Amino acid sequence: MTAPLPRIAVIGTGGTISSLGASSLDVLDYPDFGQKLTCEALLDRFPETRRVAELMPVTFRQVGSTEIGPKDWVEIRALIHRIAHDEPAVDGFVIPHGTATLEETAFFLNLTLACAQPVVLVGAQRPASALGTDAGMNLVNSLRVAGSPEARGNGVLVVLNDEIHAARDVVKTSTYRLQTFRSVDFGALGHVDGDGVHFYRTPLRAHMPTTRFARMDLTLLPRVDIVYSYAGADGALVDAAVAAGARGIVSAGFAPGSPTPEQRAALERAARSGVAVVQCSRASGRVAPRRRLRETGIIAGEDLSPQKARILLMLTLCTTSEFGAIQEAFRSH
Ligand code: GLU
Repeated sequence: MTAPLPRIAVIGTGGTISSLGASSLDVLDYPDFGQKLTCEALLDRFPETRRVAELMPVTFRQVGSTEIGPKDWVEIRALIHRIAHDEPAVDGFVIPHGTATLEETAFFLNLTLACAQPVVLVGAQRPASALGTDAGMNLVNSLRVAGSPEARGNGVLVVLNDEIHAARDVVKTSTYRLQTFRSVDFGALGHVDGDGVHFYRTPLRAHMPTTRFARMDLTLLPRVDIVYSYAGADGALVDAAVAAGARGIVSAGFAPGSPTPEQRAALERAARSGVAVVQCSRASGRVAPRRRLRETGIIAGEDLSPQKARILLMLTLCTTSEFGAIQEAFRSH
């Protein structure tokens, strides 16, 4: 008697993993000149996927992930909630996704989903048509993780290159290397080897399905912009973000968390006018709520990357714009 295969809903969004280039050596121009497969066609291309799971393919998008943003996040969340409600027999979800914004979609879902089933984002560094593509094995590994009981309770997971990462910590670190996704300060949660899924640790920070955002009715997220620091930067981009209607600004400052003096003056002006300003670092590591930040009404972004701090700020601003409450959200997520 063999155990029944786990039933996994696969929500295709496009990305390199779903891409076909001009030839098996096209690992460069396929995003601009190739084609992207439907979810069904992607799974058909790698029939081994059907040996590890009972598949329920849903094509959500066929785009590169530079096209995916907050409106899509809200729709993917609603789609997962709908499937979890309508198909209670589903054991898990896999979302093939372009690697460019994969960590952002993953973190949004990690903070907002209310379903108990594991949710795994998967990408590839080489298109499905390439010699030595990682698309097939990454897909198989993501299905194994989504179908494994140990994956429950760990929040949204990211699987590539035989590694399992927490959505909160993972970041794309390299343009073309297969080992691009790293959880820089804390490491991977586990591995997928030939004999299955192996977890070694579990994330402690708030994650789905029990965050304060899980039951919220999210439709439109407020505008939050990121302003990068570089030697000699003036305040023009901070002022431009305010003029564009940003309700929040994330400063990607120099490590350990400082912008240039002119940016700082503009950020403090923005904070005084009611814009929520979060200080992050353009490097890894934690930005602490040091005295200068506290006294000028600027929120410390802790160890979140600027792009993840932006997502937490967007969500927090849906319920509060009070400094202490936002700072607390950064301490606990
Ligand atoms: N991996 C990308 C994605 O996120 C496509 C590559 C590119 O745009 O250069 O879909």
